[in-house]
Amino acid sequence: MEIHKKDIRSLSKDQLREFFTANGDQAFRGNQVYEWLWSKGAHSFDDMTNVAKTTRAMLEENFVINHIKVDQMQRSSDGTVKNAVRLHDGLVVESVLIPTITRTTACVSSQVGCSLDCNFCATARLKRMRNLNPDEIYDQVIAIDKESRLYHNHPLSNIVFMGMGEPLMNYNNVIKAIDMITSPEGLGMSPKRITVSTSGVPKMIKKLADDEVKFKLAVSLHSAIDDIRSRIMPFSKNFPLADLRESLEYWYSKTRSKITYEYVVWKDINDNKASIDALVKFCKYVPCKVNLIEYNPIDDGEFQQASEESIMAYIKALEANGIVAKVRRSRGKDIDAACGQLANKEA
Ligand code: SAH
Repeated sequence: MEIHKKDIRSLSKDQLREFFTANGDQAFRGNQVYEWLWSKGAHSFDDMTNVAKTTRAMLEENFVINHIKVDQMQRSSDGTVKNAVRLHDGLVVESVLIPTITRTTACVSSQVGCSLDCNFCATARLKRMRNLNPDEIYDQVIAIDKESRLYHNHPLSNIVFMGMGEPLMNYNNVIKAIDMITSPEGLGMSPKRITVSTSGVPKMIKKLADDEVKFKLAVSLHSAIDDIRSRIMPFSKNFPLADLRESLEYWYSKTRSKITYEYVVWKDINDNKASIDALVKFCKYVPCKVNLIEYNPIDDGEFQQASEESIMAYIKALEANGIVAKVRRSRGKDIDAACGQLANKEA
């Protein structure tokens, strides 16, 4: 039965080489097949024309090639594209293509649903259903790259892990996917063009530093005061800001790579002087910049975007302290493709 066959793309190149030698073939056959699977994006073993028919039949008996399917593609009036991506087991995740004048950015998902429980995020309401496999993350990027070439006449320039899920709670698969995206056998993209965004899991941030990753790190901070942060992001009760700070200092000491803090200013939550002061102080620990992101309402409830004056007060205080701060306007709001809105309504 199909269901018991292994997804061949869960094997590393070495494992594929070993598979062939164990089956009386030569190791280089593993390289050939690997190239078909990744660089050439083969969807079936029969595509592998330089592999003998009997070998293809043997692969067919042992493995499947799982592929995502872009079920639905929506285009926003601002050029943003949202893909509803169906996985081999029928679950759906979303990825987004965000064009600007100078670049096209893919925003990809790392989990179906999310392990965490940020009160302001639509994905959190889905709970975590499962982690995405490396090939499922990679395929989202390939799909967006094709759309970028089609609609914008150039390849994808950047990737952010800001879709559904918490990338650091699916650590190994995210790292494997990035390895493939950056390797010459995959897209050969520079890791400097990739940003992993985390809501802040100190232990895993330290692991990133130990693993000497070359991509960028963004942290969804939203408050530099423990009481407020754990109210809006309840999981963070277990990860006080002191621990987060320590992990970020460790990250910087190992990587020398600046951190981006993502921050939404909400009415009556963090639109006050104490919150601004706390953020300014927090920003002094490690070289960083701040993206003040617009709130995308997910229901009528608790959270409302703060006034323009409150946001200006943040910018003024940060700039006065030499900290780069930018306001990020939402993209793709009309198709529910903006931050925190990914929750596959159609699925
Ligand atoms: N779990 C990761 C990545 C996914 S969320 C993380 O937390 O960083 C991507 C970004 O969108 C995060 O900064 C998150 O805090 C923000 N976000 C979530 N819900 C939002 C909303 N309703 N409006 C604006 N930003 C939101």
